[in-house]
Amino acid sequence: MHSTEGTGNAVAHEDGRTDERDPYAEGRAARRDEAVRAAVEQGLLDTDNPLVGLLDVTGIRESAAELKAAFEAVAAPGTPVLHAFAVKASPLVPVLRLLREEGIGAEVASPGELALARAAGVEPERTVLDSPAKTPAELREALALGIAVMVDSPQELDRLDALMAGSASRSPVGIRVNPQVGGGSIEALSTATATSKFGVALRDEGAREWVVRAYLDRPWLTRLHAHTGSQGIALSMMARGITETYELAEEINRRAGRRQVDTIDIGGGLPVNFASEESTPTYTRYARLLSEAVPGLFDGRYGLVTEFGRSLLAKHGTVVARVEYAKSAGGRPVAVTHAGVQVATRTVYAPASWPLRIAAYDAKGRPKEGPPVVQDVAGPACFAGDLLAQAQSLPLLEQGDHAAALDTGAYYFAHHYAYNSLPRPGVYGFVPGGESGIAFATVRTPQTVEEIVTESGAAHTDALVTGLTP
Ligand SMILES: *Cc1c(COP(=O)(O)O)cnc(C)c1O
Repeated sequence: MHSTEGTGNAVAHEDGRTDERDPYAEGRAARRDEAVRAAVEQGLLDTDNPLVGLLDVTGIRESAAELKAAFEAVAAPGTPVLHAFAVKASPLVPVLRLLREEGIGAEVASPGELALARAAGVEPERTVLDSPAKTPAELREALALGIAVMVDSPQELDRLDALMAGSASRSPVGIRVNPQVGGGSIEALSTATATSKFGVALRDEGAREWVVRAYLDRPWLTRLHAHTGSQGIALSMMARGITETYELAEEINRRAGRRQVDTIDIGGGLPVNFASEESTPTYTRYARLLSEAVPGLFDGRYGLVTEFGRSLLAKHGTVVARVEYAKSAGGRPVAVTHAGVQVATRTVYAPASWPLRIAAYDAKGRPKEGPPVVQDVAGPACFAGDLLAQAQSLPLLEQGDHAAALDTGAYYFAHHYAYNSLPRPGVYGFVPGGESGIAFATVRTPQTVEEIVTESGAAHTDALVTGLTP
């Protein structure tokens, strides 16, 4: 049922190692099937609520534990390691709180994300602020809170100079560098190209020396940051970016004659395998690869910060949508569902880069049986390209069935796009257990039509008619 064609993910296989197995895959798929059935049975999903996002709490905990164990296994005993979840991957307060309970902090990149992390109770010392466009007010707040600040540009460093003078901030501060090791298969997600907008471009003329001097002149610069990976980037390239960052830290410390840089933030960006159930590459493999490529990073002289987002959450989210109508066009069956561009924006606008596996469930939420039929799975939005999947082979979806878009726990339903004023769907976390086999908790209530009207300027209805008095 879960196998699809035409969704080959080059990255997942690029590093060879097809023998890597994900021990959690089977359990995850079984829990998901149970959750879809229970969501229908318990009425979270019905004719009036034809779209939900489901989060597998057990799976999130498993990934968090695997992440921690992977780095513990390669770092010298006692090495401080902060795993800061990139909030942008799942900006939902209960998710951040769950991760906090698992010992995971937060990487934030806007006042909104910082507010979410704080609402979830993430401690300042477990919070890291990155962002290429921080305002003076944001920087002041971060320093007042004592959260770590990664400086993105020389102009931002000027601002910090002014703010740090006479301040007693506890904030660890570092500079983000771009090792310019190259891009991956998705241009928009390649952070380490020669012309990437992020960080200080290390290979530009004079840049490396500028960075070293910046540290030597400022004893309060104690961290160094790079985030070179993302979906579409090979692990070997990520390792190269981190190696270069480590070597820069070594150079700074050598020239400073002391361990001025005490912590290296290696960013996130582990790619996710959207082509099958297996969650590969695993953190274990990535941490091992890094420890072989950059042993000095793990020998206890440096504290470590990581900023994984997609890889922590993607496999644990599922969008489930009712099939409102089933039709046929040009000989191809089309299932018209309630999940489209509003919950799967990247997939709809860039289907070649972001193919999703679709699973078919029947009207009662049970895995649908039947011979595979090549079909389109469409969304509700009013443009032709609003397709969740094109020409995927699935048991034929019929009216009243359900289509599930898998691996959508990061950057999908949590990132609502308000096209056609479609409402944000409800999001529910689940665990196995209880009388009905699955217990649900509300993570985010579905947006109501009244809320859409209010958020669309209803308080200013006459603004353009009688409200303009020049
Ligand atoms: C987006 C981002 C991350 C997380 O990236 P993933 O690909 O989701 O792991 C980490 N650090 C920074 C600075 C980012 O911008």
